Amino acid sequence: MNRKYVFVTGGVVSSLGKGITTSSIGALLRARGYRVTAVKIDPYVNVDAGTMRPYEHGEVFVTDDGAETDLDIGTYERFLDVDLGRGNNVTTGQVYLRVIEQERRGAYLSQTVQVIPHVTDEIKRRIFEAGDAVDAEIVLVEVGGTVGDIESLPFLEAIRQIRFEQGRENTLYIHVTLVPYLGMSEEHKTKPTQHSVATLRGVGIQPDSLVLRSQLAVPEGGRRKIALFSNVEADAVFNAYDADHVYAVPEMLEQQGVGRFVERMLGLERVTPELRAWQEAVRILRHPEKGVSIAIVGKYVAMPDAYLSLMEALKHAGIANRAGVDIHWVNAEDLVGAGGNDLLGMDDLAGFDGVLVPGGFGVRGIEGKVRAAQVARTRGIPYLGICLGMQVAVIEFARNVAGLAGANSSEFDQYTPLPVVDLMPEQLEVEGLGGTMRLGSWPMEVVPGTLLERLYSDFNWATLPIVEERHRHRWEVNPAFVGRLTDAGLVVAGVTPGMAGRGRGLVEAIELPGHPFFVGLQSHPEFKSRLLRPSPPFAGFIRAAVERATLRAAEGAGDARPATSNAGAERVGGAGG
Ligand code: GLN
Repeated sequence: MNRKYVFVTGGVVSSLGKGITTSSIGALLRARGYRVTAVKIDPYVNVDAGTMRPYEHGEVFVTDDGAETDLDIGTYERFLDVDLGRGNNVTTGQVYLRVIEQERRGAYLSQTVQVIPHVTDEIKRRIFEAGDAVDAEIVLVEVGGTVGDIESLPFLEAIRQIRFEQGRENTLYIHVTLVPYLGMSEEHKTKPTQHSVATLRGVGIQPDSLVLRSQLAVPEGGRRKIALFSNVEADAVFNAYDADHVYAVPEMLEQQGVGRFVERMLGLERVTPELRAWQEAVRILRHPEKGVSIAIVGKYVAMPDAYLSLMEALKHAGIANRAGVDIHWVNAEDLVGAGGNDLLGMDDLAGFDGVLVPGGFGVRGIEGKVRAAQVARTRGIPYLGICLGMQVAVIEFARNVAGLAGANSSEFDQYTPLPVVDLMPEQLEVEGLGGTMRLGSWPMEVVPGTLLERLYSDFNWATLPIVEERHRHRWEVNPAFVGRLTDAGLVVAGVTPGMAGRGRGLVEAIELPGHPFFVGLQSHPEFKSRLLRPSPPFAGFIRAAVERATLRAAEGAGDARPATSNAGAERVGGAGG
């Protein structure tokens, strides 16, 4: 069959949930057995998301091949259950960088280099290349931003040309718009959608289908009206109203016939989707048999999207344990004040069933994170340290158990005499900050007999003793101190294979024997977690948290939680738009 392209554009506002909508359509096609890939187009001029502030833009998602991408790439991976890479996130920065490099090399000699055709050709080349990379049957292309933005024009022109070249039967345009509900007049307002479709038509694209994003279901009359004004068949106007869980959106769309519609428009045969396991997972999310409360001690606590993959990994891990995971955000700076004084007491943290310190950069809040690791270690609270979370656990252990008072990471104190966490030697020569960390998938050799080994074997990752996880860091546990730390009882549970020859086995994971669950990883296993295939360290963490919750319930433990914000109800939208 010819390769098919599904283009998703957005109208009215950003952060609409286009990523979830695109991913959900992808999930419905995957459930029908198609080979699907997805491309996110980001109209910003940054070459990648690696240099952008997570507080504004949401997390930086890392792929196997070490690309630092938009968080929507993570959503695609989780919904499509595929591994994506560098080629799946196209930005204006990449496109222009290459066009200008080519121009300097003389590749366009004698020509005037222009947005059309040179920039648009480069955009199309990247979309085609993403399809070729995995020999996809269907390529989903999500154009970031909102129709009408100046910066998305070349991308809209490129996708317009693709229909012209590849034919109507091989291309589909889906426009996702906001339909606001006005409480005082009790009606859904369709005008912004009409305007947005008109803008899209103005650049030569007539959408084949609309997905209306709304808070409440849009009544039939509103949908008909929009169909009429937009020139879209009435049965091609779908409604993605706010869902209780993002993973419920594929079924919501399937019930409205989205899957069948896409099949029909692209001339695909009719296939019954296999959605049972997915539906069962959503059922557990809605009706968990038990619950655990997890404290995430981090820096960007007001912006949950900064930790999107982490929260999803906790959800997946909850499903594997039939448990609901209640996330409480604890600002690390609320734990220990600037003067080193305790702000929240140890008992406050001990009220949780698990403590997680996620990845991060910079010194702000670091002492609070060290304290969180200490409370978890001394009170027997399940602890999962991700990247920076492992590094602070090592610092805490060095200071308070191994007798290395004043130990630190050279990231936080350049002149510390005891740099138990130090810059990796290969980082010393690095110039510039874009794409220069240790990035992407790296193997870890899991040490036999460790808890970590049991986790990876219990949760079915078949490749032991080697597992691959994704990385994004510059610092590492300093090999010069590993002996002193292990003498004091710290267990190195994972190392980089083949590094021993260099006299230094990079520490990939640590754990503490005799503790219910105290695990730290240099990698970010959350990036590989999937709805039906949870990440083993996360699944084990939640299993241990469930055990603690059960014990505490049996002991009738009082609820002594600090005043933290709850993650709250889920939105379909997000910073990724
Ligand atoms: N800042 C630490 C480093 O670069 C941790 C990075 C992270 O947590 N991703 O090593």
